[in-house]
Amino acid sequence: RAKAEFDRRTCYYEHDMDEHARQRRAMAKDLWTALETNGFSLVYQVQKSVATDEITGYEVLLRWSRPGHGMVSPADFIPVAEECGAITAIGTWVLRTACRNAASWPEKRKIAVNVSGVQLGSLDLIDTVRDVLTETGLSPSLLELEVTETSIIADKQRALHILRQIKAMGVSIAIDDFGTGYSSLDTLRSFPFDKIKIDRSFMTEVDHDEQSKAIVRAILALGRSLSVPVLAEGVETCAQLEVLRVEGCSEAQGFLLGRPGEIDWEDLIEPMLGQMVV
Ligand code: C2E
Ligand code: MG
Ligand code: MG
Ligand code: MG
Repeated sequence: RAKAEFDRRTCYYEHDMDEHARQRRAMAKDLWTALETNGFSLVYQVQKSVATDEITGYEVLLRWSRPGHGMVSPADFIPVAEECGAITAIGTWVLRTACRNAASWPEKRKIAVNVSGVQLGSLDLIDTVRDVLTETGLSPSLLELEVTETSIIADKQRALHILRQIKAMGVSIAIDDFGTGYSSLDTLRSFPFDKIKIDRSFMTEVDHDEQSKAIVRAILALGRSLSVPVLAEGVETCAQLEVLRVEGCSEAQGFLLGRPGEIDWEDLIEPMLGQMVV
């Protein structure tokens, strides 16, 4: 009887596994199709100086409207793209499109592009970045690549070699989702990052939870002693921004400062108009 129960459960379990694998295969197929049919788009989220409120750059975020499914979160499709190998071509498309767009903007603004750990596993990334910069004419100083700690540790020596080569071109490197990875401090020691992005999980309670505040303070102190500016992700409330101001955080990004979307260049004059009305 126990055996029958066991068999029944195993059977359900295997059925779930099959279903899961089938869904991932279907998504992978649609990702390859999206690459061929121009099915991806980009949105931009503003990054601002905490002290002056000035725009310091924009993070580039990938969007995919999957036929028959609607918008799918990159958190859901990037892992599938990594698994099926499509991420390399997708990542190159993101980089080329973002650099081409930024090169044509009416104001020079820095863009921050996310790079997958899979891309960091191949030396090809060096040529891809160099070719895209040459082809689009974007100044390397206007490009920042965001990498996570987790994406570096898979093949650390190779990843560090690739990042050093890219940095030598004048491109800057930010460490993304800082604090959630496996070996934050060791990664910081072995590579001179140009920016630390505090993961947004630390931001949610920073204004009323002493533990969260203590961690944010410690990361800010770390940034100061390494002379690396720190950006806080996921800032949603004025109270959170106020804590960052008091604690001396350099930059902030989050729904409070701007949702990811198209860049509205009219915003450049809107603040002035706003002041006149109020
Ligand atoms: P990330 O690089 O940490 O990007 C920040 C994510 O936080 C974005 O989600 C953004 O929309 C969201 N976010 C920004 N401000 C707030 C806020 O105030 N509150 C909350 N709750 N969320 C906020 P998104 O666009 O869904 O992207 C999720 C992740 O997918 C990114 O995390 C990044 O790891 C990955 N991703 C996005 N675009 C690309 C890409 O072009 N290439 C690669 N390899 N990964 C990408
Ligand atoms: Mg990012
Ligand atoms: Mg992040
Ligand atoms: Mg994240």
